[in-house]
Amino acid sequence: MKRILLWTLIACIAFCALSEADRGSVVVEEENTKENKALPLAGYKIGIDPGHQAKGNSQREPIAPGSRETKAKVATGTKGVSTGIPEHVTDLQISLKLRDLLALLGAEVLMTRETADVDISNVERAVMMNEWGADAVLRIHCDGSTDHTHHGIAMYVRKTGTKAEESALLGRCLLSAMTERTGAAKKSVYKRDTYTGLNWSEVPCVLAECGYMSNPEEDEKLNDPAYQDLLVLGMAEGLIAYFEALNGAGTAEE
Ligand SMILES: [Zn+2]
Repeated sequence: MKRILLWTLIACIAFCALSEADRGSVVVEEENTKENKALPLAGYKIGIDPGHQAKGNSQREPIAPGSRETKAKVATGTKGVSTGIPEHVTDLQISLKLRDLLALLGAEVLMTRETADVDISNVERAVMMNEWGADAVLRIHCDGSTDHTHHGIAMYVRKTGTKAEESALLGRCLLSAMTERTGAAKKSVYKRDTYTGLNWSEVPCVLAECGYMSNPEEDEKLNDPAYQDLLVLGMAEGLIAYFEALNGAGTAEE
């Protein structure tokens, strides 16, 4: 735990320094060779899937491999009740910050999209990460509800099947770290078999609902760069805790 706190501190300093530069153009990949084992996420391949895209795609695709049940390829997503900002914009902002922070911490990062103007289905996003061999995948979303009082952070993972246990562990690590870091309400890690992107995933994968855009206060926070920094710091801490837990479990078995 002490090591996590130390790395968090270093990450905060690095991230704050980065905030003053143009993050969009920062290239740190060269420094993050796998030989650089001093960094806490060195050697790990982490996938980021920013939810949705500029235009949804209502064409259908199987909800799971071999399933006759189908769902839209990409849903439209929610919209900020106060800011009016579409979810896909907020999801991408958070994801790009996460990409830069994880790269600073030594990870190899792959994004399913880095712009809004794409058309990539949920199956395609999952397959992209499977083929890349991600050690962990974060699908970044924001929630919406007709009840505007609903607020807080929740994780969704696949109910059964490939890497279900690892995904649940990753979800618990992310939920704890993100709620501690932001002070947001801690909902739960929900196990579902209704998410195409989770069912097709063959690697540890969590869909993070970072908060409710249907709640005016949380909508404002989710679109505030300073709050987004806290969210991604929590995600990085959660990932470090997850890999430590996995490695710890491996040592205990030997
Ligand atoms: Zn969403």
